[in-house]
Amino acid sequence: MSDRNQGETDEARAEDLLRQAQDFADQVIAPRAAEWDRTNTYDIDTLREASRFGWMGLQVPRDQGGLGLPFSVKSRLSEVLAGADFGFSLSLINSTNIGYKLCRDAPHLAERYLSDLISARRLGSTALTEPGAGTDFAAISTTATRDGDGWRLNGTKAWIINAAASDLIILYAQTEPGSRGAGIAAFLIDGQREGFSRLDRFELSGQHSIGVGGFELKNYHARDDEMMQAPGQAFKYALTDINGARTYVGAMCCGMVAAALKIAAEYGRRRETFGRRLVEHQGWRWSLGEADMDLAAARALVRHAEARIDAGLEARFESARAKLFATRMAERHLPALAQLMGAEGLSAKYPFGRHIQGAKISGFVDGSSEILLDGLSMQYAKG
Ligand SMILES: Cc1cc2nc3c(=O)[nH]c(=O)nc-3n(C[C@H](O)[C@H](O)[C@H](O)COP(=O)(O)OP(=O)(O)OC[C@H]3O[C@@H](n4cnc5c(N)ncnc54)[C@H](O)[C@@H]3O)c2cc1C
Repeated sequence: MSDRNQGETDEARAEDLLRQAQDFADQVIAPRAAEWDRTNTYDIDTLREASRFGWMGLQVPRDQGGLGLPFSVKSRLSEVLAGADFGFSLSLINSTNIGYKLCRDAPHLAERYLSDLISARRLGSTALTEPGAGTDFAAISTTATRDGDGWRLNGTKAWIINAAASDLIILYAQTEPGSRGAGIAAFLIDGQREGFSRLDRFELSGQHSIGVGGFELKNYHARDDEMMQAPGQAFKYALTDINGARTYVGAMCCGMVAAALKIAAEYGRRRETFGRRLVEHQGWRWSLGEADMDLAAARALVRHAEARIDAGLEARFESARAKLFATRMAERHLPALAQLMGAEGLSAKYPFGRHIQGAKISGFVDGSSEILLDGLSMQYAKG
């Protein structure tokens, strides 16, 4: 097959995948999401149901059992799913990331764990944050100490997506206390081994579908070949990988606003006040126009960052702009769109409340808004 045909085929496969995702979002996630929030549920069964489409292996090469699609398709998938539920989308994507990173950085570990991850028999997480270190990632205190043919790990991780059930975790630990980023290494942790224990799932005020929690490592033994990135490399890799995460979190904000805009517009075409449909009141309608404009701008930033990542180009500033702008856009427009619905906007049958909480989460995960602003402005502080 020529390269051109292969390219067209991938495009068609991506379109099929996104159509499938929209159906799954509308028919499966949206009807269940309000119940997840009401009953404080992290729904692993629905994650497993979603895995039948192969999404957990989206970026895994086809000859290794994956779909072999580029980053931008994962980002678009996250956008579609977040339109129904932000937490579910972020949970699925976080597990998806682990299989891909094993293929990319540790093929010997991929051989061992990939089929479990693709089938969602086992779920994955990425663990940087600790009770005492969030934005200041270089300050982590989980230690990795040399021990014979491997390493002994000790410490606690907190605020980790999927931690309520995941047991294949890419975890960052300090090999030289006091050295900050220079001593940080990344390990694959198998949570079915001795030395690993799970903390109780964290109680949030909403978006329980994200399955956030923590782990404790007590003398956990990692073999040498389970070090995924050596001291020094891990910190740099984490800062590069986070560009992808920032981009898809921006895409998820777009997905939530697009869904809210559609619901509010449909409502406005049905509901009448003062003898006219809501959409016929100019003062009511303008909020739709404002959201439409900012959504298009946020999407353009997200698509630009996705394209750079697909092309293997540096995307530090592009991803920071995309996430910061899209988060702010969602924080502004989701409450405004809920307002258009009157009291109905507060009903649990609509996603406005859950989406507003999703936008707040977006302001912390994979780089808080303040840290993104700091990075963007810092370039102007240099002479
Ligand atoms: C739902 C959820 C899921 C998460 N999932 C994961 C995950 O899967 N894996 C993972 O490793 N982590 C995860 N996190 C953690 C997330 O990355 C951290 O919450 C984030 O890095 C902020 O750290 P912190 O909460 O400890 O805030 P802190 O570092 O304590 O900061 C507190 C506040 O001060 C601001 N601030 C800090 N320093 C500065 C500064 N220099 N200038 C200006 N403002 C500053 C911060 O932006 C923040 O608003 C998750 C968090 C949430 C809420």
